Formats: sequence, C-alpha cells, structure tokens
Amino acid sequence: MKVTRFTTYRVAPRWLFLKVETDAGITGWGEPVIEGRARTVEAAVHELAEYVVGRDPAQINDIWQTLYRGGFYRGGPVLMSAIAGIDQALWDIKGKALGVPVYELLGGRVRDRMRTYRWVGGDRPAELVAAIGEQLEAGFDTFKFNGSEELAMLAGPRAVDAVVARVVAVREAFGERVDFGIDFHGRVSAPMARVLLRELEPFRPLFVEEPVLPEQAEHYRRLADSTSIPLAAGERMYSRFDFKRVLAEGGLALLQPDPSHAGGITECHKIAAMAEAHDVAFAPHCPLGPIALAACLQLDFVAYNAVLQEHSIGIHYNQGADLLDYVVNREDFRIDGGCIAALPRPGLGVEIDEASVIAASRDAPDWRNPVWRHADGSVAEW
Ligand SMILES: [Mg+2]
Repeated sequence: MKVTRFTTYRVAPRWLFLKVETDAGITGWGEPVIEGRARTVEAAVHELAEYVVGRDPAQINDIWQTLYRGGFYRGGPVLMSAIAGIDQALWDIKGKALGVPVYELLGGRVRDRMRTYRWVGGDRPAELVAAIGEQLEAGFDTFKFNGSEELAMLAGPRAVDAVVARVVAVREAFGERVDFGIDFHGRVSAPMARVLLRELEPFRPLFVEEPVLPEQAEHYRRLADSTSIPLAAGERMYSRFDFKRVLAEGGLALLQPDPSHAGGITECHKIAAMAEAHDVAFAPHCPLGPIALAACLQLDFVAYNAVLQEHSIGIHYNQGADLLDYVVNREDFRIDGGCIAALPRPGLGVEIDEASVIAASRDAPDWRNPVWRHADGSVAEW
C-alpha cells in the first residue's frame, strides 16, 4: 500500500481535518491544528506531505522520525501539530487495513470505560451553578471551568475574592456531589498563583490547570510544594523532550498533552508512559473536534494512568458546529454516567461525513482567540 494524496479541510468552529488517501482505497483522517492558526498548520501539513506521499503508510514509526528528525529545526506547536494530524491519519489507515481499533494495535484495553468531564462557564466564568446543575441532571458529575478572567500580575483581595467566590458557590450548591478542575489558563502570574492556590485549597478541586504559563514551568515544583491541590499542565508542550523537563523537575500531578498538538498518537503514547513512570496521571487535552477526541480515546484505553478525558461537547468555543456534526457514527460517542466506552470501529473509530466536511469547508471562518487588555490598556493573557 502507498500513500497517494493529502487533502485538508478547514471547518467551523476552528478545526482542520486532514484526509490521507492510499492506492488501496483506504482513507485515514487526522486533525492537525493549532486553534487560531489553522492556516499556518495547514501549510506545514502540505509541506510535510512530500515525505509521506509514495510511502507505505504502515511504517508509522519511520515516517514519524523522518518528519521529526528529517528537518534540522523541529518541535514547537506548528510542526508538532502537523506531525500529529499526519500520525493520527496513518494509525487510522493501519487500523482500518487490519480491521481493528488502534487500541488493539497498542496492546489492548486496560479499562472498560473512560471518565470524561465537561466544560462549564465559558471564557468569563459566570453562572457556574446553573450550568453545573443542568449537566448534573444529564449525568455528568465532573467539570472544568476557568478560574478567573484577566488577572493583574499583582492583584489585591477584591480580585482574589472574586475567584474564590465562584468556587465557594459551586461547593455550597452541590457539596461533594461534583468534582471539578479549575483552569487558570495561564492567566495567573506566579505570585498570584501562590495566593490563589492557598485560598482555593479548602474547596478541594480535583486539580488546578496551567497554574502559570508553561514558559514559567520552573514554578510548578515550587507551587506544588506550597499546596495540596494537584497541579496539571501540558496542552502547550509538544513532545517527550518538553515533558521530560517538567517530569524531572517535579510538581505536576497530571500531564495533559494534546494528541493533536504533541506529535499524535505515537508521541503521546510515549509521553503517557513517561508520566506513569513518575506516578503522574494522564489526561489528554481535547477542546477540539471528533478526530482529535477519537485519537485521545485510543490512548485513554491503553494508558494505565489515564484518569480523565476532556471533550468539546457544548464547549464555549464551538460556535457554528458542535463535536459530532461531521460524524456518521455518533452513537459510538455516547456518554453514559459521564463515561464513554471504547470506540468499536477499526482505526481511530470515527467515521467522517465527508460531504458535510466539504460543504462546511467552503466558507470556513478563521477563528482567533480574543486579545484581552487589562484596565490600564496593556495586553492581558487570555
Ligand atoms: Mg487549559
């Protein structure tokens, strides 16, 4: 079998799908994207296609190494997301060719069902209690919300109390019936993270995510030493080589690599194993589309330390399309009691409705994250 063609589709809300065709008639799909820079990653995917077209798609490890090491400059969000989507599509082809889901190719399942969590509250967290109440009735009991809006590098008690008040409201409304992670989203400086973690500790969040930006990763260990709240990060780290530094330094309890940003299934499978060796849990980042989620689930069912799966159903980013709009086998993605079963179909387990993808790609929006500013006019982290 040989790879014959790459086709990319940019679609709402902010996704990029890659179709890889072969001369055997088997087609694989991947989702190589950086949210807000879809065209940049699309260009990288097509540039890398020349290393893959004409190759046997079964040689995933060699193709991966060629894409990574074959370029003198490597790593980073754009190249590793491009490799990620290509890698996913190759696994999809291999599974379909052999008639088994990818988790069978990776040694078989370690669990029967995977726990998921649901986003609530949007970019500017408000109305959390109402949103959680609704989802609790729908069977979800695990949530994530943003901890704050923009926050100054040094802020006083009014700003701190606003963050804490939301968490207090959730605990007061639901007690221990719900679990929740709090995403600081890189909006919080190291000094303020120290203050907030101490204030939030009594309300026992499952984790605090990106307590500071990954550029400030040396603070993870110091912050972890100051709190009992498990700390999470990883959506803005792109390879084993990025993760080895934070694992060696210590401080993170939960790694969140994104199989659409960090080199795909091949690389994230290795990152999960590195985390397991450090007694660190694994929770793939996935605010993206259905191919990305399918890739995450393939890993969740083989990684012993996988604890939670993010998904984008109802997420605030999904304007114009939701997670399953381009999917034929929607029933396979059913979430029961907050858990999802292993996808039964061969390959990644997602059947893409190509006609609807083509139609949606004709007038796809160019999504951008908002650029926020502090009250003094300076740029704020979003
Ligand atoms: Mg996050």
